[in-house]
Amino acid sequence: MIYETHTHFDDKAFDIDRDEAIREAMAAGVTRFVNVGASLEGSIRSMELADKYPEFLAAVGVHPEECASLSEADIGLLEEYAERENVVAIGEIGLDYYWDKPERDIQKKWFAAQIALARKVKLPVIIHSREAAQDTYDILKAEKADETGGILHCFSYGCEMAKQFLDMGFYIGVGGVVTFKNAKKLKEVVGYLPLDRIVTETDSPYMAPVPMRGKRNTSAYLPYIVKQIADIKGVSVEEVEKVTYDNAVRLFGK
Ligand SMILES: [Zn+2]
Repeated sequence: MIYETHTHFDDKAFDIDRDEAIREAMAAGVTRFVNVGASLEGSIRSMELADKYPEFLAAVGVHPEECASLSEADIGLLEEYAERENVVAIGEIGLDYYWDKPERDIQKKWFAAQIALARKVKLPVIIHSREAAQDTYDILKAEKADETGGILHCFSYGCEMAKQFLDMGFYIGVGGVVTFKNAKKLKEVVGYLPLDRIVTETDSPYMAPVPMRGKRNTSAYLPYIVKQIADIKGVSVEEVEKVTYDNAVRLFGK
């Protein structure tokens, strides 16, 4: 049993074979999926998937790259969505200074607003943070995200930053990058993290693990990620599956 904490099966990359791809992932041993919204439309599509499949849960939120046109009314909409039974997190939200668009002040404003929403509706947050470690940490701290908890998804920082987020009560999302030969830093971080603070994810359709690197990613490839974590930690695949599954259940409540 593998828990997929971050997938985008609503993405247009799955328009041709969505149901089949989901069935394949289930056949590969994935029994629970959090489909993560990256925009308002993506949040709606995530809820639709959660309505259709009992194995699916939804996260609703707006990704930093999509936040330029957000309004207070949109935050109100997210609040309505968040009240639904199968919505388990606010995300993905955060800061992306790699693409660096829209401008940082706008990203920060809507990141903070969505953390405040998470606190209000008492849901954890799923964080996208790229080349923005310190600002991410500072805003989470200022907005009291230690009260919501959540996941630093697709973690790309070092052990020192990881420790700070662990101290705030967060889980670290580990995906396909951990299988890349040149992913020295992430392998080190996985070695450092206690297993009971790691959650597994693909971020599909992006970031396919080795040996599928470069292809469309899907949750069916989660076993490659689990295997790599098991190798780094020197424990069995079953142990990684069980502990990371329990971690996700503890965080999302189901
Ligand atoms: Zn994502």
